[in-house]
Amino acid sequence: MGKVYLVGAGPGDPELLTRKAARLLEQAGIVFHDSLVSREVLALIAPEAEVIDVGKRCGRKLLMQDEINSLLVSAAANYSVVVRLKGGDPLIFGRAGEEIEALRNADVNFEIVPGITAALGAAAAAGISLTDRRAASQVVISTFSRGTEGASMDWDAITSTTTLALYMPGPDYAEVAQRLREGGLPGDVPCVIVSNATAAEQQIRWTSVARLAQEEKLPAPALMIVGRVASQRVRQISETFWRRDANDGQAPRITAVS
Ligand code: SAH
Repeated sequence: MGKVYLVGAGPGDPELLTRKAARLLEQAGIVFHDSLVSREVLALIAPEAEVIDVGKRCGRKLLMQDEINSLLVSAAANYSVVVRLKGGDPLIFGRAGEEIEALRNADVNFEIVPGITAALGAAAAAGISLTDRRAASQVVISTFSRGTEGASMDWDAITSTTTLALYMPGPDYAEVAQRLREGGLPGDVPCVIVSNATAAEQQIRWTSVARLAQEEKLPAPALMIVGRVASQRVRQISETFWRRDANDGQAPRITAVS
């Protein structure tokens, strides 16, 4: 019986892989990877290993999650090192929870190898501190595109000192902007869009909630960092603070109290 490793491939730059991830890619008998994993990282897989792309292509799922779960369980019976390679960190929006459950239920030995999640790659690319003490007190990792349950963002958790890392924003920036406004964020809250963070095709756009709708779409994968740290002028911005007012069941407002 082999072991299944849920491995983070990081955001793109192969040098951002952990040494453990790189070693496992060399030792794996079989690798199941997502479409997000960069070519340079895939190139580190031993040539004799079997490589299976289980990712999504053009919105079409190649394999259902249940099928991937069963593949992992059966691979463990045939290979001593099975690698399930996911972009970024396997435990952030990676459906690892379902795979872990399937492996546990089937009594398959497994181990998780963390990777650098896209929000951290994007922050590094843009050169901003997600927890800059002059402007932020918490980081929220979130998305608007949850499949089913637990769908909506808890806007009460978002304050003027929250840095919001918005995964899977999708191509409709106007809709994203509208949802941020509905959530109570003022238009002048800075927002940075980072596409292909840490990869050769990386692009960065400095914008704001108000200007977001007019921004040119950047290629996927892209991530938005929203909050006062998402500015090249954090110090000036931190001089105006906001407060969230109770607003009788309506979307709460955040108002300037400078
Ligand atoms: N497990 C991954 C996230 C998977 S969800 C991680 O930890 O990073 C897929 C989303 O991640 C994309 O829609 C995008 O919002 C973000 N993402 C992944 N790689 C990215 C990259 N190199 N640059 C910007 N965003 C990225």
